[in-house]
Amino acid sequence: MKSIVIGIDGAEPKLIEKWIDDLPNIQKFYGCFGKLESTLPPSSAPAWTSIVTGVNPEKHGIFDFFYFDRETMSIKTISSRFRKVPAIWNLLSRIGRNSIVVNVPVTYPPERINGVIVSGLLTPPNENFVEPKEAKQLLKGYKMEHLIIDDLPIRISARYNPEKVMNILREWIEWRRKAFIMLLKNYSWDFGMVVFRASDLVQHFLWDSDYVFQIYKKIDEEIGKIMELYKANYFIVSDHGFYGIKKNIFLNNLLYEKKYLEAIGRIRTIDIGKRFAKLLYYLPKKFIRLFRKHLFSIASKENVIDFKKSKAFCLSSSSRAIVAKKEVKNEIIELINNFEDNNIKPMKATEMNDYIVIDLMEGYAIVDVLNFRKIIDKPGEFHFKGEHSKYGIFMAYGKNIKEWNGEIKVVDVLPTVFHSMNLPIPLHVDGKVAEIFKKLNVKKVDWNKYGISEKELKIIKSIVKLSQ
Ligand SMILES: [Zn+2]
Repeated sequence: MKSIVIGIDGAEPKLIEKWIDDLPNIQKFYGCFGKLESTLPPSSAPAWTSIVTGVNPEKHGIFDFFYFDRETMSIKTISSRFRKVPAIWNLLSRIGRNSIVVNVPVTYPPERINGVIVSGLLTPPNENFVEPKEAKQLLKGYKMEHLIIDDLPIRISARYNPEKVMNILREWIEWRRKAFIMLLKNYSWDFGMVVFRASDLVQHFLWDSDYVFQIYKKIDEEIGKIMELYKANYFIVSDHGFYGIKKNIFLNNLLYEKKYLEAIGRIRTIDIGKRFAKLLYYLPKKFIRLFRKHLFSIASKENVIDFKKSKAFCLSSSSRAIVAKKEVKNEIIELINNFEDNNIKPMKATEMNDYIVIDLMEGYAIVDVLNFRKIIDKPGEFHFKGEHSKYGIFMAYGKNIKEWNGEIKVVDVLPTVFHSMNLPIPLHVDGKVAEIFKKLNVKKVDWNKYGISEKELKIIKSIVKLSQ
């Protein structure tokens, strides 16, 4: 059976339950609805990568939007090239099946596959975002995501002009659906995936307002427009959920106070506040261009933290991770685990590959800005209002799907989708098929030996070459 995965970034199970009567298309999935456990950290880059690969971050190698490059001693942005394990569309290509993939995070640069990829979050502006390139002519006017609007960070716009931000988010949602349908119409396909990201942004910026409902409603309408056109097995997934932020933990302030972090010079004014908003009006164009490249998080640390001299620093708010020198790792883990806020210990540290990753209690968020002020504080007016929680949603609708209300993990999505497509499960996958099928008959195979023969593969490759 053809299968379509619809991603609603950050869709929160409690909100879906609360609003289900007003979301008629998502309601069709409600018979088979459960929770989807995210990765640690519950961040979009590792979680979506686990969803599309079926393996945990330790195996696919992506922990955040950023990584610390020890050779150049600088923070860099990751790309699809960092994914060490094939994604669902690579596996399908290998057996001659076609995929249409729109706006999945960390798919830039888009890979050449059987089908089409329109890359998602982390695509730099003015770079090619479609593969094969000729598909671009179907996407004239496609709105990419930028982190800023009118040269002002979106969170400042959200504070002063939420209606404007909402119009842009609505436009992005419509364009994801339009592009997806346009490609499904014009290319043959077995698997389709589209991710709506406006839900993540609206919950970060405008949590606890009616705007959040408006975005859920809008996404529900667009899902309806896809479903009325194509018969397939449908899955709705979110990479994590959301909660309201009560307190921010300024992790780099803590590491500075405990003398693990060395600051550069006397720059003591980097802060997200009124002064910062004002400052943005007068920034030189060069700096604005930096913002456009999603580098705000990097730029705000590069000029303040001495990476060479520091023994430890927080990589980014989204990673909730600390880069630490070996000799202080244990001390840092102890510091984090024993950190108290009103007799509550809100953080738990875990060592993971090169990082110390923090598991956070609900209600708290980590801020990576070093401003030499308080370590713990209530969110200011320009801070995020909502933060990622550990559980997203998993829903299914279609043939052979039964009533279900349970809990699965992000790594279970790929095997479940493969089972719905009557395909065996690759041996290297960490997840397992969800118990949502009326008839369950799981087979596992070594993917490299599965499907089309080497001879057929050679013929396909030569045809691809000829058409280039
Ligand atoms: Zn996300």
